[in-house]
Amino acid sequence: MAGGLKLYNTLTRDKVDFEPIDDQNVRLYVCGPTVYDFAHIGNARPVIVFDVLYRLLRHVYGADKVTYVRNITDVDDKINARALRDFGDRIADGSMSLNEAIRAVTGKTESQFHEDVATLGCLKPTHEPRATDNIPQMIVIIQRLLDMGHAYVASGSEGHEVLFSTASMADYGMLSKRRLEDQQAGARVAVESHKMNPADFVLWKQSADTEPGWPAHFSFEGKAHPIFGRPGWHIECSAMSDRYLWEEIKDRLSPKAKAKPHQFDIHGGGLDLIFPHHENEIAQSCCAFDNDLMATVWMHNGFLQVEGRKMSKSEGNFVTINELLATEKFGGRQWPGEVLRLAMLMTHYREPIDFSVKRLEEAERLLAKWPAGDAGDMAPDASVLEALTDDLNTVTAVQAVHALAQAANADPSKLPLFVASAALLGVAPKKAEVSDDLSAAVQALVDLRLEMLKSKNFAEADRIRDELAEKGIQLKDGKDKETGERVTTWEVKR
Ligand code: AMP
Ligand code: ZN
Repeated sequence: MAGGLKLYNTLTRDKVDFEPIDDQNVRLYVCGPTVYDFAHIGNARPVIVFDVLYRLLRHVYGADKVTYVRNITDVDDKINARALRDFGDRIADGSMSLNEAIRAVTGKTESQFHEDVATLGCLKPTHEPRATDNIPQMIVIIQRLLDMGHAYVASGSEGHEVLFSTASMADYGMLSKRRLEDQQAGARVAVESHKMNPADFVLWKQSADTEPGWPAHFSFEGKAHPIFGRPGWHIECSAMSDRYLWEEIKDRLSPKAKAKPHQFDIHGGGLDLIFPHHENEIAQSCCAFDNDLMATVWMHNGFLQVEGRKMSKSEGNFVTINELLATEKFGGRQWPGEVLRLAMLMTHYREPIDFSVKRLEEAERLLAKWPAGDAGDMAPDASVLEALTDDLNTVTAVQAVHALAQAANADPSKLPLFVASAALLGVAPKKAEVSDDLSAAVQALVDLRLEMLKSKNFAEADRIRDELAEKGIQLKDGKDKETGERVTTWEVKR
């Protein structure tokens, strides 16, 4: 079923019927994290939202028909600052180079990010390129922009720069609907004098000794400009999306897709990226490749607040994914990954979301009622598909999955349908593994409760039952058919 999927397109500000350029090669790019510190729970939102989209696209078009790229930004001034903070002494005494210090910061942060988002139930993207592994590709695009009159070389206070010339693009501002004239008229900040236009942005800038850099040999207006430097913020996504969604797969694309070179289907990220990041990605890619569109559909998730307030370090409500999973910082307890994930999906991705203990408890209560099982080769239920294909309406989808859970609880033959449907949301209730030690400890308490019941110490028997329930262990009382005596079985609910 290729039809039926509707997505809200920020570019046109309306919900559109999604039609991939090539339905055998559906192409999705999402801006990933800047790896200088632990990812916060706001950063988890695009990762989870676009993971649901990825699962849905795989279901609709086929698991091997979707290419999902999410980059890792590992060149950024925040990363330099962190490397100098953490390894400044070693850099100073020569036992570590700046590049080694940067690799240490980004390597550690990246593996933490991978661990965190795996716990949130997110599939790995098809490609997860690092910016620093794509510097030559960025240099090629920048040179094209220089050759085509969309960029220029200038000298600013921090050295030589290659800048994008916003005035050279007739429809600059198409995504954010900002007009260049308004920006000029409204510019409060003093125009940096080396810029032809205040909205012009950096493609490449010269690096000082304390900054990471790569050699680049540009030519502009017949002159050579060797600039040992580093890329600006936006160019990496133009380079990496083109490498993995066009350059490396173009040979296998359909004739229709080949007739739209460099364009791909969906580009996503958080709302804050519309301007300037995505606007500038569009400017770079459309101008370098002489295209009207970089991606057909642009999707943006809304922002996450914590307990009704903007999350920030100064507010003291800043919380990382890892703190939620592994510490008691939020609500005095740890939270399982699937609870965080479900809580996130209980709000539509375009709405702002208020992350609160109450919401997490609500998600946990819901999950506690969802049975574990296998999907076999069952397909997801139409009710869930219908909700998700309507611009990822996860709110209705969660309700539909819950109704399927209730049906499965009443009739075990409906369990596979529920499991297959929940899997589309990336939530897979699992039967907890019970270790021998836990098993023995539970059995001892179950036996003790039976003794209490026999001696009519009902209060103590109930206390034991409640204590076990709190640990997710549910008791079932029955009668032995032959002796008529009470027997108690137990299972781990979650
Ligand atoms: P960054 O590492 O800051 O570039 O952010 C990575 C991703 O997280 C981007 O798609 C951002 O738009 C998104 N993001 C950052 N903060 C929040 C937030 N509070 N709520 C939702 N998304 C966010
Ligand atoms: Zn990007």
